[in-house]
Amino acid sequence: MRSKRRINGFQPGVRAELVMIGTEMLLGEIIDTNAARIAERLAGAGIHVYFKTTVGDNWTRIAAALSQALTRADVVITSGGLGPTDDDLTREVVAAVLGRRLVEHPEAMRQVEAWFQRQNRPMSPSNRKQALVPEGSEIIPNRRGTAPGIIARRGEQAVICLPGVPHELEAMMDETVLPFLVRNFSPSGRLWSRVLKFYGIGESALAELLQDLLTMDNPTVATYAGNGEVRVRITARAADEVGARELLEPVERDIRNRAGEFLYGTGDDTLESAAGRALKAAGWTLAVAESCTGGLIGSRITSVPGSSDYFAGGAVAYSNRAKVDLLGVPAGLLDQYGAVSEPVARAMAVGAAQRLGAHVGLAVTGIAGPGGGTADKPVGLVYIGLAVGGEAEVRRYQFAGDRDRVRWLTSQAALDLVRRRAEAGAQGLGISPGA
Ligand code: ATP
Ligand code: MG
Repeated sequence: MRSKRRINGFQPGVRAELVMIGTEMLLGEIIDTNAARIAERLAGAGIHVYFKTTVGDNWTRIAAALSQALTRADVVITSGGLGPTDDDLTREVVAAVLGRRLVEHPEAMRQVEAWFQRQNRPMSPSNRKQALVPEGSEIIPNRRGTAPGIIARRGEQAVICLPGVPHELEAMMDETVLPFLVRNFSPSGRLWSRVLKFYGIGESALAELLQDLLTMDNPTVATYAGNGEVRVRITARAADEVGARELLEPVERDIRNRAGEFLYGTGDDTLESAAGRALKAAGWTLAVAESCTGGLIGSRITSVPGSSDYFAGGAVAYSNRAKVDLLGVPAGLLDQYGAVSEPVARAMAVGAAQRLGAHVGLAVTGIAGPGGGTADKPVGLVYIGLAVGGEAEVRRYQFAGDRDRVRWLTSQAALDLVRRRAEAGAQGLGISPGA
């Protein structure tokens, strides 16, 4: 094995490698999102991923992939194949490649049994297999499913096995694997991170604003895009929280100075929680009128605990008739401009606020596709109206993507409009509901 020099922080060039196990990925039936989730966490921790192999549920090929990974990596992380069925081979192959026996791990067995007890389900004999580990391994608790993960060490190397189910894998990465890697591959302390969330700016534009920060070493700064928003994770290595703050805070301030106009929140904030917080601070209530989103916006808003403080309710006004009957949109507007139009979005927003006696009326009308588009009004065209105190503004958007994506992006844009308007409103405009 190669010799290593330890310096402050991570050993120079700790090399991680991913082995993603599952035939479904090779058949194109599922997309390998687990690798992305693992890789972004390792990147945030300053650990480099050098290779990723995807391999089917085949003993010989998994063994080959693992053996090769162990010739060149310090840390090998596998995903999948920890289940109880015959095609779940990971534990056996890891044991064979490391030249260890497979043994029952008493604590793993206890955790598998406890899981079945909590679920009130009988445990089948095949589940005993999930408590087998290569001799000498540690286990990774799995709060969300049956199979504990495995950490098997060989000299200075570690093989880490995680289950394929994405939410189990992510929780185990956060709760056990990252702390393990920091303890064992970073002698100078643990990782502390801070996530900033942005809407209304693309990942590359944001990366450009933050360019010089993205190459820093401690803290590291990394951008992630997804679901129509961008996150920035700042990760510091420090011995304690005070040291971490000293590293994180100036960088966070710097990022806020550069891109604060697009920042909507931090940590677990979502656009719906940020919009809700802004409405509450303004003392405003919100009513929604949804056409193409069919209730998605109302659903997102009410997913936030305490939303009854500011959410009056809404209408899913899908047909023209519903727009007239539920929201009082003049039939003439629909005839003249069509349902997907600026005047109709405006009338829907005003109608929602009036009919529900709310300070703010939000309306969306658009063409989610895949059908229904024309040259004038292509798929992805959406109007969002926002009525506040009798004044309504309407914005026109052209989103790209399939039906789900157009609907999701519409909800993102709508929630951000509400958030911005309420944040501005909190600074002083006195209005009364349903005006
Ligand atoms: P189980 O105990 O559920 O069998 P497992 O560890 O054996 O878990 P797999 O059977 O390989 O894992 O995968 C379980 C499910 O997790 C799969 O049906 C698949 O939908 C999902 N999955 C597996 N690997 C990945 C991956 N790399 N990316 C995204 N999803 C995945
Ligand atoms: Mg399985």
